[in-house]
Amino acid sequence: MLKNYLIAVMLLAGFLIAPGNSSVMAADTGKLITNQCRQNIKMLNEATQKFVNDTGDQLPPWARYETVKSSLMNLDYLPTDPVGPTPDCKYNLVSNSREDFQWYCNLHGVLEGEKTVNFQYHEHQIMAKTTSRYINNKRYKEHVSELLRWTDYAPTPVERLKYHYNMNPLSTILVMVGVLLIIFIVYRTL
Ligand SMILES: [Zn+2]
Repeated sequence: MLKNYLIAVMLLAGFLIAPGNSSVMAADTGKLITNQCRQNIKMLNEATQKFVNDTGDQLPPWARYETVKSSLMNLDYLPTDPVGPTPDCKYNLVSNSREDFQWYCNLHGVLEGEKTVNFQYHEHQIMAKTTSRYINNKRYKEHVSELLRWTDYAPTPVERLKYHYNMNPLSTILVMVGVLLIIFIVYRTL
């Protein structure tokens, strides 16, 4: 009887290992999301640098993307809105002066920061960066402490499973199959 189960597991494993089976390719989804968001921040930083070079305008100490777009920079500088890779990716401009500014994502922080924070965001492992440059800015400080609350986030069992599956699909499947097999055998012998 046990022999049949083992054959079944080996067949399943063989099927999953079979080349070209893209369903078991590992994907670091957190890294993909973080890279995508950092591209958005980079684009916003470059657009703002261009705006600063072209005009004599001052930058607000803190402003949401929507406000910047509607009352400061126009379509010449921001032709397309950045699409946040997560619902929590909302962009804000923080500045000390025309020369010292950065865009800030509520989940990923700034592009250039001396502090790196890694945390679990649902089934993704996210990397954020913060800087103490703007720490005297009340709104910035509030947003950073809000971001750091993610380090206390406890993923649900399903999120944990999804994370392990994405990072290492094959071993996650084999462990799951093994666990189910043990449960089944124990159940049958009772
Ligand atoms: Zn983001």
